[in-house]
Amino acid sequence: MSTKSPTIGLLGGGQLGRMLCEAASPLDVSIAILDEANAPAKQINNNSKHVVGSFKDPAKIRELASSCDVLTVEIEHIETDVLEELESKGIQGKKVTVHPSWRTLRLIQDKYAQKEYLGQQGLPIAEQIDIVEGDGMLASMKEASQKFGFPWMLKARKGSYDGRGNFKISSTQDLDQAVKEFGRLSCYAEKWVPFELELAVMVVRTEDSNGKTKRIVPYPVVETVHEDNICSKVFMPPRNVSAAACEKAQKVACGVVEKLWGRGVFAVEMFLTKNGDVMVNEIAPRPHNSGHYTIEAVPYMSQYKAQLYAVLDEPLPEVLEPHVSSSIMINILGGANSDSHHKLVEQAKKMYSKGTSVYPHLYGKESKPSRKIGHITLTGSGSIEELEQYAQPLIQLADEIRQ
Ligand code: ATP
Ligand code: MG
Ligand code: MG
Repeated sequence: MSTKSPTIGLLGGGQLGRMLCEAASPLDVSIAILDEANAPAKQINNNSKHVVGSFKDPAKIRELASSCDVLTVEIEHIETDVLEELESKGIQGKKVTVHPSWRTLRLIQDKYAQKEYLGQQGLPIAEQIDIVEGDGMLASMKEASQKFGFPWMLKARKGSYDGRGNFKISSTQDLDQAVKEFGRLSCYAEKWVPFELELAVMVVRTEDSNGKTKRIVPYPVVETVHEDNICSKVFMPPRNVSAAACEKAQKVACGVVEKLWGRGVFAVEMFLTKNGDVMVNEIAPRPHNSGHYTIEAVPYMSQYKAQLYAVLDEPLPEVLEPHVSSSIMINILGGANSDSHHKLVEQAKKMYSKGTSVYPHLYGKESKPSRKIGHITLTGSGSIEELEQYAQPLIQLADEIRQ
């Protein structure tokens, strides 16, 4: 890498960007960030090429691109027309590549289009129907209720995260409120999936200069736990899930990522049903909350290092195996007060024992209720059940913050 010294332009400088910068530091990879002046990633990465502004602003994206060799993202809610333009025309006579491809970003941005595409490719998804915008919304939702029965999930097609674009429709009485809250958005209806639990797999994708897939490498399967629509914990390996189900999830995830375009890491969120079926919930075209554990559990190639290697076309390992037998990630969410999470962090700092390690991460973000402001990773040399037992004081404190 040092022989080429390329500069990566990063759209978005939140916690994912910050951890990408942490991985880039020992490799001497330079990352220029487009985001607000004091964004979490900028706080730890001094670079004269940073741009202050929004990653949705085409002019700012062009400004960033003019001093970078390759662009990548830490968020999918960005402006893709300008990325398409940059890739085809370059800027100021200079070529700029975009990884993952703007085609992938554009598709994934629209959850409905994303899942339609996956369904057409023969991948397992929940049934979904488009909801009419504006005046026809209520009638359209009544049709969805007839078709799916209750409950079903109303989802905003674009811009959602941490469940903020989801509305569970449990009865006809919810429809008016749904119009009030989601009436101005473009939405779709998704059949309720009575899942047993949720799984996720991070997958690295590389391709040659003609866009032909070179390598698809999955990380281990993890179990993700969502509370109040937001990811609270991640378990590696999943608890009480058969090896066959884990293998199926990895296969589905690789099948999904194979159908996308460009290089990078991708998260595939899935539902596991009672009878062992795996269904795709959604894709994230970037490092992801469900892959934070790889920083310590797969130390030779975390999801962040893999993102750098993929984007820069550096050699990636053929397999991505953990160096520990179990790992748990606990999100630190902001609580009612700005210091509600302090007890949790203090507890994490004082936990040392043989065979188990605890790693707190804070993102340099102001605390707000339910905001992801950090996470704690635990790694263990025993079973996931033993590690969960050890993590109890942390899990309890994290639960208290949410109440
Ligand atoms: P993220 O922060 O992961 O991007 P998001 O806002 O895009 O979240 P989703 O992933 O669509 O939201 O949904 C959030 C959670 O809501 C899921 O992880 C799952 O727990 C629940 N959920 C979503 N869709 C369904 C469904 N069809 N049936 C049942 N539960 C669902
Ligand atoms: Mg999402
Ligand atoms: Mg999700």
